[in-house]
Formats: sequence, C-alpha cells, structure tokens
Amino acid sequence: MPNVLVFAEARGGELRKVALEAVTAARRVADQVGGDVHVVLVGAPGIAGRASALAEYGADLVVVSEHPGFANYAPEATTAFVAERVKGGDYRAVIFSASQQGKDLAPRTAARLQQAIATDVTSFEVGADAVTVTHPGYTGKVVQTLRLVGTPAIVSLRPGAVSPVAKAGAGRTESVPPSMDPAAGRVVVTETILGDTKTLDLGEAPVIISGGRGLKAAEHFKLVEDLAAAFGNAAVGATRAVTDEGWRPHSDQIGQTGRLVSPDLYVALGISGAIQHLAGMRTSKCIVAINKDKEAPIFKVADYGIVGDVFDVVPALTAAVQQARQSSN
Ligand SMILES: Cc1cc2nc3c(=O)[nH]c(=O)nc-3n(C[C@H](O)[C@H](O)[C@H](O)COP(=O)(O)OP(=O)(O)OC[C@H]3O[C@@H](n4cnc5c(N)ncnc54)[C@H](O)[C@@H]3O)c2cc1C
Repeated sequence: MPNVLVFAEARGGELRKVALEAVTAARRVADQVGGDVHVVLVGAPGIAGRASALAEYGADLVVVSEHPGFANYAPEATTAFVAERVKGGDYRAVIFSASQQGKDLAPRTAARLQQAIATDVTSFEVGADAVTVTHPGYTGKVVQTLRLVGTPAIVSLRPGAVSPVAKAGAGRTESVPPSMDPAAGRVVVTETILGDTKTLDLGEAPVIISGGRGLKAAEHFKLVEDLAAAFGNAAVGATRAVTDEGWRPHSDQIGQTGRLVSPDLYVALGISGAIQHLAGMRTSKCIVAINKDKEAPIFKVADYGIVGDVFDVVPALTAAVQQARQSSN
C-alpha cells in the first residue's frame, strides 16, 4: 500500500504548526492513492499526549518515542529512529517540514537511507512511478517540477505552503523506544533559546508585516508593529538591509539568507523587492506592497500595490484594520 510517513516536529513538548501542515498534506495525498498516514513523534516523556492532535489532522498511526534525551532536538538519534521506521515500513514518501530543524533532519535521513530528496517543496503528489514535487528554484524565479523515482521519496515541505485542515485519521498509537541513546550522539543540543515569546513565530503566523529600508530608522518599526498588532495574528519581518543596519534582529530576516515563509497575507512596507528577499516570501498567498516608487520590483509579485509614502499610508491602514476588526466583533 502506498503509505506516507510524516515526521511531526515538536518543541518544548508542544506540536509545531508545521507538523499539522505536513500531516494535512500527507492525508490529502494518501486519500488520493488509497494509503495510510503514519506519523513519527519523538520528545521528552509526555509527548505521547500530543498524538491525538495528529490523529485529528489525519494520522492513522502515530509512532511515539519518549525519552528525556529527546527534550531538545537530538539529530543523530532522531535520524536513526526515522530511518529505522522507514526501513521497517512500506512507505512511498517521507515528509518533513523545511523548518530549521527539518533542513537538518531531512537530508540526514535521505543520506542514511541513500534515497533521493527534494527540499523546500510547495506541493507534492504520489504517482504510480514517481513522487512529483514543485520547488521554487533560482531564488524563486522559476518553479521547478521534479520527479523522484526512488522509493521512498524524501520531501521537505515549505512552512505555510499548506494550511492545516482537520480530517480525522484512525489515530492508533504505537510506543517504540529510541534506536540509539539520544544523549550518545556526537551533536548534543544543550539548550534552545527562544526569541521573543510574546510575538508570533514567522513560520507560524498567518499574517506577516515586513519592513524594509524605506522605514529609514529602527524607531519607525513602531509603525510595522502597530499594524501587526491591529491584525492580532501577525508577525513582524524585515529585509536584510534592515537586519544589517541592526534595526531588527537577524531572526526577523526573510529571504534567501533568512526565513522562508508562505503566510496567507504578506504586507511589504518600504521594501524594494530584491530577488534575495523575494526568494523567502514570493509563495505567500496574498502579497500587498506599499512603496513610494511605482517602478519598485516588489509590485511585480504583489497582488495589491499602493504607491505611496509608508509614513502616510501605514497609520491610515492600521486605523482601517482596527476599525474593521472592531466592527466584526
Ligand atoms: C548573497 C545575498 C543574500 C541576500 N539575502 C537576503 C535576504 O535573505 N533577505 C533580504 O531581504 N535581502 C537579502 N539580500 C539583500 C538584497 O539584495 C537587498 O539588498 C535587500 O533585500 C534590500 O532591502 P530593502 O528592500 O529593505 O532596501 P532597498 O532595496 O534600499 O529598498 C528600499 C525601498 O523602500 C522604498 N522607500 C523608501 N522610502 C519610502 C517611503 N517613505 N515610503 C514607501 N517606500 C519607501 C524605496 O522606493 C525602495 O524601493 C541578499 C543579498 C545578497 C548579495
């Protein structure tokens, strides 16, 4: 049977949104080809309590491994565990998230299994003779269609490319011990330092308000933050010009050398639209750009564009969003 295996990412004992995205994508594909969705979940003791949420999004079987050494990401033990599961099962595709952790784990697993991998894909399908994926290439200038003919195909899914949709799977669980001691790896993550926990993570936010050099100074990012707060479900992003200036931390940077995001709505404020920036956000579902230069390249990828000064337009937009939310409550 053409089953699909998913690695469900968790942090601090909680599932990450990318885990539900990957399970949703796998469920859709498994339904098309008549297979089951199996999910690997590793974590500190207690993580098994998250298996039911995975079942709600389509997991037929959740393979859980609990160990104190899985409290932080344990690259070698996690790779070994996933690879063992793949070898012992009948899987057509193995799905990871193209998150920071997935960017490490997916290639490790592919190398261990000596299988083909496609990273940072925005969609995938399982056919009779190949797994076909779409992958933004050349900093997003082209969308490549790639066929992976080996079995299983290893795929990592761009965060935000699929929205989580609840669709119950059979939800059986199986408890399996780690195949190696997570503390015995050559790489041991001793601590995870989270960024500002009061704001939404860029990979999880449905709305991203991003600022560029057009904001002119660090203190003017208050405009960006106010618009994000007006939406209520938005994170703040930035261009490299901004993070290089030190106006925002590097963790806010979106683009080729920053985060890859695909939110429902991406609002670009005073951003020119350099290809390195577009590489990280052009797969967003709706792009709104505000720039005073009507020739700015960002308008080529924008669904809606406002030619204007951010210092005039953004406060008016913030007030309009606040008003719209108040009247809808
Ligand atoms: C190897 C490499 C990797 C890179 N990686 C990244 C990356 O990951 N992410 C990234 O973002 N960049 C990256 N860059 C940098 C990239 O090439 C651009 O330099 C950068 O994206 C420009 O940022 P910006 O749009 O904020 O600034 P600018 O290009 O200076 O654009 C500022 C924009 O603001 C507009 N503006 C000015 N004033 C106002 C106003 N008052 N109201 C409205 N609009 C206004 C201007 O018209 C202009 O379009 C990389 C570059 C290299 C070489």
